[in-house]
Amino acid sequence: MENHGLFINGAFVPAESGESFESINPFSGESIGRYARAGRPDVEKAVSAARKAFDEGPWPRLSREERSRVLGQIAERIEVHAKELTALELTDAGGTIRKIKTDIWLCGKQMGYFAQLALRDLDAPLAELERPGFSRNWLVREPIGVCAQIIPWNFPLMMAVWKIGLALAAGNTVVLKPAEETPDTAMALARLLQETDLPPGVVNIVTGFGEEAGEPLATHPGVDKVAFTGSTEIGKLIMRSAADTMKKVTLECGGKSANIILEDADLAMAVDGALYGAFYHAGQCCTAGSRILVQESVQDKFLEAFLAKASAIRLGDPADKATDMGPLISRKQQERVLGYIEAGKKEGARCAVGGGIPEEPTLAKGFFVEPTVFVDVDNAMTIAQEEIFGPVVCVIPFKTPQEAVQIANDTIYGLAGAVWSRDEKRAMNLARQLRAGTVWINEYHLTSEKAPFGGFKQSGLGRELGLEGLKEYTELKHIHVDDLGQRDKKFWYDTVLAPEQSPASS
Ligand code: ADP
Repeated sequence: MENHGLFINGAFVPAESGESFESINPFSGESIGRYARAGRPDVEKAVSAARKAFDEGPWPRLSREERSRVLGQIAERIEVHAKELTALELTDAGGTIRKIKTDIWLCGKQMGYFAQLALRDLDAPLAELERPGFSRNWLVREPIGVCAQIIPWNFPLMMAVWKIGLALAAGNTVVLKPAEETPDTAMALARLLQETDLPPGVVNIVTGFGEEAGEPLATHPGVDKVAFTGSTEIGKLIMRSAADTMKKVTLECGGKSANIILEDADLAMAVDGALYGAFYHAGQCCTAGSRILVQESVQDKFLEAFLAKASAIRLGDPADKATDMGPLISRKQQERVLGYIEAGKKEGARCAVGGGIPEEPTLAKGFFVEPTVFVDVDNAMTIAQEEIFGPVVCVIPFKTPQEAVQIANDTIYGLAGAVWSRDEKRAMNLARQLRAGTVWINEYHLTSEKAPFGGFKQSGLGRELGLEGLKEYTELKHIHVDDLGQRDKKFWYDTVLAPEQSPASS
């Protein structure tokens, strides 16, 4: 079994403690490899490598064209090694081959887009200012510095690509910590980075646990920005600890998104869209459409088709193309999700499909939970308020579109949502009223590397992707150039110089 080191300053090194941990295949329950278990001293080394690469190295000082060229090389490496990356992610993350193949393909495309984004000149002149004297002014964007990037296990390589790609495009250096459940493709990416012209120390990757490696990274005084994707609970912790040294923070956290189906929707499409919204990657998706709001007049018709299709979802080996849904990431996550199912039953929601662990012996070693549909759900119930991050969906009826908006917004989260209707104006009107960072109309889950992604309310802070995402990795500087050139007209100096010393008074 392979022993993977930490990627620091362009080389693979063991953890200072010599310790390692296993990553488990969520389908077989078997170990796929051992990974160095980073602690505070390793984080120290990684941050100082990133610090040196930023303060003294070429990366922030390269031309935009040069940085873009290197990002293009990374994109090309990902595309060339797509098959190998797909195989690694398949055994590490438990997503189906149908999902992961697309993810890895997208990773190459997205990195390619970040290479294009790196070319964007974000500096802009202001119109000439006349007061108090003439001056020329520029607004320039500069890299922030060393960025700590902490990512989750649901889209392991894609989260690494989003984080690293945007940070590098703006000229920053990085210490990335993948989730302890899914270190494999991040380390594969490190190997690919070695094949490019990226200078050592610009990207460092430390594997390890949240409290042991994530916490010292997020609180390190040598880190200028923390970018985090994960639970709202840890997001809040990171925001609090960033206060001490006033690090910039971007957070992409939980969601409890409402998928609103109006009575004039194309019901067949809405049924499939709702299944995709709720059960894509076994619901382990921050944008999961985990609350389906259906207009009462079409609820029976919707449920008839939805429940039939939900019960027909095939669980199985993620490597099998016929498998619709794989296991959850870990035993811990499986238990957490089953706990929510019990809570739903206790609170009086009716479990119409699923509700437990599948009985097939071939699935016994995996961390499976059946696709589960609760109907007659009240939005105040725990299962409608808390993020479950599993294949559990609540169906909530509503009478009027206004009531749908009220229910949809009655949550601490605000990541995403959707409206299904044949009347685009009506759907748009509702979309504008949803307090969420992304709203789809007659669609679900689709994000684009060109569109900013992030949350309202407790779903996060700041945006990733697109030009806005790039700007989140920059500091804004105003440069003022005196255009007056005449000391005697600078009457404002009189505020500190005695009038008799001032040429303006003579
Ligand atoms: P999940 O519950 O989905 O595993 P987490 O928010 O716990 O989500 O984890 C997301 C990422 O945050 C992981 O890389 C994890 O190791 C990291 N993490 C967990 N706890 C902390 C912490 N206290 N400080 C910094 N990072 C942490």
